[in-house]
Amino acid sequence: MSNDVQALQPDAVPLPPTDLPWLQSQWAQLRQRFTDSQQAAPHALMLVGSAGSGRHATASHLASWLLCQQPGTEAACGSCRSCRMLQAGSHPDLLKLALEEDSSTIKVEQIRSLINALNLTAGFNGWRIAIIEHAASMTDNAANALLKTLEEPGARTLLLLLVDTRKALPATIYSRCQQWALAAPDEDAAMHWLQQHCQHDAASLRLALELAHGAPLQAWHMLHDDSVAEAVSINEGLGALAAGDTDVATVLAQWQGIPAERCWHWLQHHLHRCCRSLLLASAAESDALQACWQLYAEAGKSLALAATGLRQDLQLQAWLLQWRLLCNSHAMIGDFVKQQVGTGQVGTGGRQA
Ligand SMILES: [Zn+2]
Repeated sequence: MSNDVQALQPDAVPLPPTDLPWLQSQWAQLRQRFTDSQQAAPHALMLVGSAGSGRHATASHLASWLLCQQPGTEAACGSCRSCRMLQAGSHPDLLKLALEEDSSTIKVEQIRSLINALNLTAGFNGWRIAIIEHAASMTDNAANALLKTLEEPGARTLLLLLVDTRKALPATIYSRCQQWALAAPDEDAAMHWLQQHCQHDAASLRLALELAHGAPLQAWHMLHDDSVAEAVSINEGLGALAAGDTDVATVLAQWQGIPAERCWHWLQHHLHRCCRSLLLASAAESDALQACWQLYAEAGKSLALAATGLRQDLQLQAWLLQWRLLCNSHAMIGDFVKQQVGTGQVGTGGRQA
């Protein structure tokens, strides 16, 4: 188990920006929970938000501010011994629990070990903080093991549970935590932030934001790990097939470097957009919608299979042949894809020099 708060940052190079203006007011409200003399400070907080919503940053902000030996009103000082240890990832009072490599669950042994560590005496200003990433991945036994600590936490002990949705956890767990939902900024603010932190063109930024469901940090990661470039390549391949400008073998060769799982994910995404466009079109052909929906569902099945590591070449080829047939018989579908590529709704721009 690592107690390194810095290790909470995803393995992206460069490191994601840390100025997150849309979270500032929420962070202020959070800090107030710990300074308000009228009520007891929370001992368990559930930070609820999708990937890229700033769950990690929020947990890090709160932990460093509480552990700081001379905290300012808005943030940790950054220079005291406690802050320096946090920066070095060696603070004894900050414990972090995450999924072990090659595991999709948090096991009961991990929770027991965390609880043992929490019961040790705090070394600095009294706070002892545990951050549980992917808290919804706790096994039933792990969740049960955590219950007692949630019911009777030690003094100045804080548990931070990070989840996508509170519904993923047993009621016994979330009813013992204060819920804290992290809000995404509006689209203009998100675009403004991305423009400040990325060198990409506006179409790519907009696409990234769409693919990230409005979460700017997630969009930032997608722009830096090739996800956006992949999604654009997939969309362009679909558009070229729909227009009859290329053949399936050429498209497959162009997608060679995209892992099967991500390939199906993006195909699903684009088919979902097509279905939505068909639904919105007043002259929608119902059999076109049905066929499109069928292809969407097949992409979903292949996505599930891709996770098992099965080779996908033949499935992908068969799927693309069906896509071409579909576009041949329903020109409307091809038009939707071409419009998306051509107008920058899906964006064709890559990273600027
Ligand atoms: Zn400090």
